[in-house]
Amino acid sequence: MEHRKLIALSVKCNECSRGWSASAEEFEKLDLKCQDPECNNTFSVYEGIRNSLKDKEEQFMPNTLLANDMYNGTVSLKMGYSKYIELPQGIQKVFKVQLIPMGPFQIGAVDITANGFNVLTSFIEGSEEPKLGEEIMSFYIVNAKKDDYEEPWLHLLSSSLDHLRSKEYLTSIILSEIALESFIDKTISNEYLRIGLDEDSISRLMVSANIPTKVNPLMYNLFGFKLSSFKETHRNWQERVLIWRNEIAHGSKAKATSEEAQLSFDTVVDAIFQLIESIERSRKN
Ligand SMILES: [Zn+2]
Repeated sequence: MEHRKLIALSVKCNECSRGWSASAEEFEKLDLKCQDPECNNTFSVYEGIRNSLKDKEEQFMPNTLLANDMYNGTVSLKMGYSKYIELPQGIQKVFKVQLIPMGPFQIGAVDITANGFNVLTSFIEGSEEPKLGEEIMSFYIVNAKKDDYEEPWLHLLSSSLDHLRSKEYLTSIILSEIALESFIDKTISNEYLRIGLDEDSISRLMVSANIPTKVNPLMYNLFGFKLSSFKETHRNWQERVLIWRNEIAHGSKAKATSEEAQLSFDTVVDAIFQLIESIERSRKN
């Protein structure tokens, strides 16, 4: 079983829609050049992350948010029989299993856990080959996460995407908004710590200030920009996501649509990565 370590976030070009897992050097440089030689578009690494996260199309390469371990290999099977594929130890979550049959048969994975999965094969209707019990081969790719990236907001964002995909829109909206709140609290707290405020005062401030105060005046006070610097993102957040979140939390919103959940996820992705990019750029200047 081959193992490759990827960066937990992939990037996507906004001109030609080519996507890839950016390297550590690309992350350092902040500005990227599209990998497609015919495209030549340049964009920031955070813009690329936002494009990639907001792209909900099912791609051959799955959205690698948090799935920064990739395993692949070939497995030999007996036609019509199941086989258990054991994964290496230490995996916390499997995001996706892809099986590519090397021959004219159907194949699927069931019982997927962090320990492994079962592979089942079946015949294609009308096809004579392969026969029952005959040896066959399949290629597999597993996208998973081991024990790193312990950032609560990244996990909340990842769970929001899971809920969006499984059509649990109310929970997805709540998780998107909490991901933003968690990111803001962490960012503000770290900065106050860095400039010398004590932990007790910071935690009192985090409890007493509401989220609109945190994203605008407190962010501005610490970094010189605020969420409302990004007009469209701020409008969508303030007039929609935050209102829906409060209505859901207080029980007055009992249904949500796919569009509402997507807009919430996209808005939070834009908000978080626009803020991270501004912080990074202000530190480099
Ligand atoms: Zn491109």
